[in-house]
Amino acid sequence: MISVEEARAKVLAGIRPVGAEQVSVMQAGGRVLAEPVAARVSHPPVDVSAMDGYAVRAADVATAPAKLALQGESAAGRPYDGTLRPGCTVRIFTGAQIPAGADAVIMQEDAARDGEAVEFRVVPRVGQHIRRAGLDFAAGQTLLEPGRLLTARDVGLIAATNVPWVLVKRRPRVAILSTGDEIKMPGDPLAPAQIIGSNGLALVAFVEALGGEAILLGTALDTMVSLQAMLAGARGADLLLTSGGASVGDYDLVKDAIGAGMALDFYKVAMRPGKPLMFGRMGEMPVLGLPGNPVSALVCAEMFLGPAMRRMLGLAAEVRTVSAVLGRDLPANDLRQDHLRASLAHDEAGRLIAMPFDTQDSAMLASLARADALLIRPPHAPAATAGDPVRVIPLGV
Ligand code: AMP
Ligand code: MG
Repeated sequence: MISVEEARAKVLAGIRPVGAEQVSVMQAGGRVLAEPVAARVSHPPVDVSAMDGYAVRAADVATAPAKLALQGESAAGRPYDGTLRPGCTVRIFTGAQIPAGADAVIMQEDAARDGEAVEFRVVPRVGQHIRRAGLDFAAGQTLLEPGRLLTARDVGLIAATNVPWVLVKRRPRVAILSTGDEIKMPGDPLAPAQIIGSNGLALVAFVEALGGEAILLGTALDTMVSLQAMLAGARGADLLLTSGGASVGDYDLVKDAIGAGMALDFYKVAMRPGKPLMFGRMGEMPVLGLPGNPVSALVCAEMFLGPAMRRMLGLAAEVRTVSAVLGRDLPANDLRQDHLRASLAHDEAGRLIAMPFDTQDSAMLASLARADALLIRPPHAPAATAGDPVRVIPLGV
């Protein structure tokens, strides 16, 4: 048995980054940028008004009240094409170009229109309510760097730079094979002793949430013939995930089935849940063999699949942990690193309290769904008391 850290290092060492592809900005949210994005336009493109009001020469309103003659109008997208004359004002709206000659905008709440004249009740500051050309960004300026996971805000920014497409990392293709004579799909008729195979679908959701493309291969029976036939479907994937068939029972054949073409890197990790985890490669393709127990499978996904996918995408691969305060006493731990399902809540003092659930059976999927975090108990951790500092992995996906 190897440690969680050793196992993760081996998985990451066996993973190669994916290439890049061009997509429309419309498809760019949640993708990882693969080239810098430089603005093709300045924003704003010209000096514009930040208010609905009147463009003036500040010197014409050196004292208030002051009356100026209305000379014309500048609306967003329809600029006034003349020059503001001394003693005059141009009606202006938010986003409209500042006319030549004007150096301030007075908002309409501080003005009173009287036919063809406008009276101003305040003295403006030069430059007031004017957004200068390029205030936000200038044409040619690099705004986003490669390696960034694009948010909706980034997509808005890219669109505003008049860049219609971007180069992003290709979605890692992850093939998923469930195993087990007892496994059925949701909605299938169930014979006694058959169960719904939840792992495949949970892993699809996990892979897609992390920016991958999941290929659900289906379920293999616990025979070498069936396993090998189904494994053929993974051809061309960036990563193969299997679930189940990984322990030491008579029907746990995944290791042997893959074994024919697989170089096994490790099998068994000192962790709970999730001991029977394996990693190797079939030809060029890395294979992560997850345990069948649903909680073990998903905890291993969090601990190994997440980092593997982030590495493929060129993102920081570490598992993110935060510090919290233990909510109740815990006994000493054995040699396996424990990952306890826990709730997170702030107490009155603002401390983040991690409360491990009472039962931690690795078949209990409902409590995993309810958990906010996995509380880490390192190997051989001594007994702990409520109030002790702990590290937790917040569960997102
Ligand atoms: P195994 O590793 O095949 O011995 O499976 C361990 C436990 O996980 C058994 O109780 C299986 O029925 C269960 N199991 C295996 N695969 C799945 C799956 N895809 N979904 C839910 N439970 C599973
Ligand atoms: Mg099985």
